[in-house]
Amino acid sequence: MNPMSRRGLLTTSAVGSLLAGAATRVQAQTFGNPDLPPQGAINAQNPRSLVDPGPQNPALAGQFPAAQSPPATDVGGLPQNWASFNNSPKRIQNGGWARQVTQADFALSETISGVNMRLTAGGIRELHWHLAGEWAYMSYGNCRVTVFDEQSRMYVSDVKEGDIWFFPAGLPHSLQGTGSDGCEFILAFDDGKANEFNTLLVTDWLAHTPPEILAENFGIPADSFSKIPLQNRWIFQGRVPGDLTLDQAAVRGPNGAPPYPFTFTLAGLKPVKQTKGGEVRIADSTNFTMSKSIAAALVTIHPGGLREMHWHPNADEWQYWLKGKGRLGVFDTGPNAKTTDFNPGDIGYVKRNHGHYIKNTGNTDLQMLEVFRSDHFADISLSDWLAHTPPEMVAQTLNVDVATIARFPKNKPAMMPE
Ligand code: MN
Ligand code: MN
Repeated sequence: MNPMSRRGLLTTSAVGSLLAGAATRVQAQTFGNPDLPPQGAINAQNPRSLVDPGPQNPALAGQFPAAQSPPATDVGGLPQNWASFNNSPKRIQNGGWARQVTQADFALSETISGVNMRLTAGGIRELHWHLAGEWAYMSYGNCRVTVFDEQSRMYVSDVKEGDIWFFPAGLPHSLQGTGSDGCEFILAFDDGKANEFNTLLVTDWLAHTPPEILAENFGIPADSFSKIPLQNRWIFQGRVPGDLTLDQAAVRGPNGAPPYPFTFTLAGLKPVKQTKGGEVRIADSTNFTMSKSIAAALVTIHPGGLREMHWHPNADEWQYWLKGKGRLGVFDTGPNAKTTDFNPGDIGYVKRNHGHYIKNTGNTDLQMLEVFRSDHFADISLSDWLAHTPPEMVAQTLNVDVATIARFPKNKPAMMPE
């Protein structure tokens, strides 16, 4: 088609004029609007391109402004990296409840399965064990934990908001709400397929063992067990336990206590990074010895702050959003780029080595957990890398002068502004 006839065609109809606009924009890739064909609301010259005739659920859609109108830098089809406990069904019993998001609910979440549990004061999560390692973060209240190791050593401790625990796979344990109103917490199992509703329960085993075997095993008459529950208890209302020291004295055995604690105070740690933008606290096996398969960072981002562009070379990142609101931007080869909004109770997931950042989009502190199936926390900061690369190399790659590169942060700020 020669230029004259092309112009003639395009000016003959309204549709033609829209196409002409698109053709012009193809020539005009710009900073912040890089895609071909152009995408994002900024490229919608016909305002009807932005209309959504429905059906709609505005209350739900309104939680996801970045999905309703992604930035023009978003591209490709990264899988859904958002899930939430907010729409996960609670299994409620007298004494508390739990809900979960496993890989069956959230395909991306291969390494971590998440549980949110509430126990009343006295509420007991029954004595049990399971195939996965269990890491937990206390988001509310008070809880007493017990865990028993393979050298016959019992550990009993109390935890409060901001504390964590780690129970290695297979070690039997229990949880009980204490204080005036029990507790709430998040569990992260080190296996995306782990299921909180499918653990090995002491009541199930006893109910499904012949009475004469129970008698022989425990060395007492079979009818001693005649009142055991025939259905498992899982979560049930118990009596608020007494002083911790009494429980600890009651379980003291010849092998003493385990050499390392199974609980740890994450929120009470001194931050490893503290800037104007926020702060980071880290618990992994280097300071919480027992936590061999889970590493975690408690991240606080102040209003206006940014968790810097970075990635993790050692593990996928499972996120639990505690407070405030924010926006996660993820980058992968392709290019693929995806922006997603998060609120309290939501879960995010970023695959190992995928670049990402988090922007606080609210007017209060944003607090979230980064949880990794690893014995240690590790991340690579984009600005740190570029600030420590030969400046000429960076200058030629990015078409930015060396003096500008010299202004990049040099000490891996974690949170911006420095
Ligand atoms: Mn458990
Ligand atoms: Mn991260």
